[in-house]
Amino acid sequence: MPTIAPVVLGADLPVRLSDGTTVTYANLDYAATAPCLAAAADAVNELLPWYASVHRGAGAASRRCTLAYEQSRQTVADFLDIRPDDHVIFTRNTTDAMNLLARALPSHTTVVTWAGEHHANLLPWPRVHCLPVPADLPAVVSGLTRALADLRSAGPVLVAVTGASNVTGEVWPIAELAEIAHRHGARIAVDAAQLAPHRPVSMTDAGIDYLALSGHKLYAPFGAGVLAGRADWLDAAAPYLAGGGATRHVGDEAAEVQWHVGPARHEAGTPNLLGAVALAAACATLAASPAVLAHEQDLLKRLRDGLAALPGVAELRTFDVGHDRVGIVSFAVAEQRATEVAHRLAADHGIGVRDGLFCAHPLARKLLTDAAERLGCPTDRYAIRASIGIGTTVAHVDRLLRGLREIVTSSR
Ligand code: PLP
Repeated sequence: MPTIAPVVLGADLPVRLSDGTTVTYANLDYAATAPCLAAAADAVNELLPWYASVHRGAGAASRRCTLAYEQSRQTVADFLDIRPDDHVIFTRNTTDAMNLLARALPSHTTVVTWAGEHHANLLPWPRVHCLPVPADLPAVVSGLTRALADLRSAGPVLVAVTGASNVTGEVWPIAELAEIAHRHGARIAVDAAQLAPHRPVSMTDAGIDYLALSGHKLYAPFGAGVLAGRADWLDAAAPYLAGGGATRHVGDEAAEVQWHVGPARHEAGTPNLLGAVALAAACATLAASPAVLAHEQDLLKRLRDGLAALPGVAELRTFDVGHDRVGIVSFAVAEQRATEVAHRLAADHGIGVRDGLFCAHPLARKLLTDAAERLGCPTDRYAIRASIGIGTTVAHVDRLLRGLREIVTSSR
């Protein structure tokens, strides 16, 4: 596959600073929503003149749109290296995908997860066995092994885990956890919202039974996500949404319905064709761009080294300092309000970061407490998060570090 240098839109947006000057925007908030790839926008623009119904028309435009939709599904399947009989279901986003999976679980399934998960992978589960935020990596493995041994005769078990944390960027040992899950007769679902934009994922090689992701974190526009995974539970479950497109036959009595098996079962209603096409274009572009990984790792090292050199700044982390991570770093600044820091970075330096607890409240709270201990002084109840990706440059990272240095030194 040829190596390409992907281009994102919005690389030179002008923003006005508090002193009246104008700079180009330094977007360091990729983990919330990544900018759109030019390739995703091109794919949408190419199809727009053919705008027509999917799976519902005999005309040339409809047939083209149906083909584009199903080809998009295949591109996503290739991107995730699914098993031949897995399904790829288009959803709205990761949250939607996890909720779909939660509804498709066989009755009495226990979901084993960790309190540090993103709320999208914590709240949808009807029957959950929640492990504490782990102290370190060995605690992940031992905690899971113990929980699965305890649940051995409890009925179906699903392990639900993040691929990479949206708070720390730390990559979780998915293949190892999958092996442990399978050894205990359980399945594993991976929240790949933050992993898939940064690392190749092979569901087949890693033994991932289900995987969820969001297009808008993968350099495509809002509105499309994916749930991929094993067909049996998905085909046996009641449709996620009831309506047209999910049905093979409806009798004269509305109760007399035969539902499709396959992805259509859970995709009732007119599908989000442009979302699927954009998402697929982003997948194809990322798959053809292996150099992105090195680019991000170089920038991440620069960012982390720079933060470590700032007085009164502590990175949030669960695992060792040297643990593998994607381009996400959250940190606390001693005795500074995170919201104030984020606003100053925006107003005085044209930088976009995020402040808050990042929809992972238990994890962020615990890691802020740890950070305060390391700093030896109180921190705010919120953290600041900088996250990088394809369009990030050395200049963006250096601008953030300069801005932060100004903030921390001016408060001393
Ligand atoms: N999982 C993780 C790890 C995330 O970072 C996010 C979004 O921040 C989600 C799930 C939810 O994604 P979405 O809001 O696109 O459903």
